[in-house]
Amino acid sequence: MPHEGTRWARQLRSGGLDRTTGRDARRANIAAGRALAATLRTTLGPAGRDKLLVGTDGLAVVTNDGASILDRMEIEHPAASLLYDVASKQAEQVGDGTTTAVLLAGALLDEAEDLFELGLRPGTITAGYHRACDRALETLPTLTLGGEPTDRETLVAVARTSITGKWSEPEATHIAELAADAVLAVRDDRRVDRHRITLQGVPGGSPGDTELVDGLVIDMEESSATADEAIHLPRRFADARVALVDAPLGVRKASATRAVTVEDADGLDAVTAHEESQLREQIERIADAGTDAVFCQQAVDDVLRSRLVRRGILAVERTRRDEMHKLARATGGTLVADIEELARDNLGRAGVVERRRLAGRGLTIVRGNAESEQVSLLLRGGTQHAIDETRRVVRNCLTVVTLALLYDDLLPGGGATEVALAADLRDFAVGLDSREQLAVEAAARALEAVPRTLAENAGLSPIDVLADLRARHDGGDATVGIYAADGSIADIAARGVVEPLAVKRRAIAGATEAANVLLRVDDVVAARGGDARGHDHDHDHGIGDDHGRHRHGSYPWAIGH
Ligand code: ADP
Ligand code: MG
Repeated sequence: MPHEGTRWARQLRSGGLDRTTGRDARRANIAAGRALAATLRTTLGPAGRDKLLVGTDGLAVVTNDGASILDRMEIEHPAASLLYDVASKQAEQVGDGTTTAVLLAGALLDEAEDLFELGLRPGTITAGYHRACDRALETLPTLTLGGEPTDRETLVAVARTSITGKWSEPEATHIAELAADAVLAVRDDRRVDRHRITLQGVPGGSPGDTELVDGLVIDMEESSATADEAIHLPRRFADARVALVDAPLGVRKASATRAVTVEDADGLDAVTAHEESQLREQIERIADAGTDAVFCQQAVDDVLRSRLVRRGILAVERTRRDEMHKLARATGGTLVADIEELARDNLGRAGVVERRRLAGRGLTIVRGNAESEQVSLLLRGGTQHAIDETRRVVRNCLTVVTLALLYDDLLPGGGATEVALAADLRDFAVGLDSREQLAVEAAARALEAVPRTLAENAGLSPIDVLADLRARHDGGDATVGIYAADGSIADIAARGVVEPLAVKRRAIAGATEAANVLLRVDDVVAARGGDARGHDHDHDHGIGDDHGRHRHGSYPWAIGH
């Protein structure tokens, strides 16, 4: 059946049908949800295929990341939009499991169609799905692996599983190691301060050239590195004093008509006596405080910069506000709004301030002290788009590693957990009344969409694989799943395919909730003008900040629960 969702969506949009009600509405919702899930099917797992997406800006992106694909797809049908919401929340909160969530929701809707055919009412189906979900969430903790999840090797495995299929094998392994090391570097007993990990994109190279730097990396872009700096400044200041200034440095020009450049000796002469005294005052103040490096949130004029350099002081201009705050935290320095306030006791202390050039860019690396350890990941890639894609995947990966480190509860991936949950649900269903039993069994089959799809994408027979998996789980091998790299059915945990419990929990709960909302709705109104896709992925969200962040308290177009 060619995508019914699309057809319905087109009818909705055509203006002839701005509103669908009753069974039609339900059919349209189910079709749209299934169509969206079908779009992501082929991307699941390490053998998942990439998609080529062209944005409205005309730029192409190649990715198999569920969240990325959804973000770039034009989603119009309210039902698809609701699944999009589930997926984006999933990525935001737990960093992984997006495709699983959408796939599972799609499978629940698939199954619901059959249940409708059998004469089950929506209320019965949603009640059954709800029970199945509760049961699965209770069962999840019993499936976790023992061992010592907090060691580096395990964290690398978690990271590796979460970014599976995103890059080539060696690149993915390299980035997984960096992600684990970054989180370990800023962990503080049972806390991980994500603000101490900076993601800095440096165009050029490939994702595999990404590196982890001990310290906060400030990108000076094109500004810095005059010949003067090479001669007068050390590449590395040990135990440096750092000034943080939020005010323009240099002369306040009476007129901006005369540009004074460092190289231009006559230009220097042209500095007026008044300006000269201003400059001197600032330089003396900075030098007297014992400054080795001054970071300025605003502009630093070239004359002042050049003179500071001659006195062995590094001046970095236009440092971003968030970086200024990170610098303050890392060095214990105070941000002053007026150069007059600058004094020795409001300077910060850095273990090391180091200058480095990478791909034509000047970077300054500031290492704090032990308690305020900062690390930076220098993300590399051929284009800004590639870097942005890397940034998003790495950010999600850091979230997953953090969850693993904080909660010690890993589950086997590769479909093993879903098979175990499905088996449990079938046992559980036996005790229920006949109609609900059907719905719970349907939920069990829906969960098996994960191993089925992993098998399909790995070129295996889903039927054979599922039969094999069920039999082996029945025989007590609870960690047997599909090892997609070589298509074997194996102890997946032993092969390092492991995921934090929170990822599965969130995917199952989110998918069930979305499917149930869609099954209950019997009136769809395509609301105009509302932006249902208002999430901003470009913020670093801490772990567990999932309370009340959802912009839409309710779904305005989902009427008639
Ligand atoms: P995405 O990150 O693309 O949104 P998901 O995280 O939802 O996708 O799903 C990825 C699936 O691939 C999970 O079920 C995970 O267990 C599985 N997986 C990851 N690595 C492997 C592997 N090496 N072998 C088999 N399955 C894997
Ligand atoms: Mg994933």
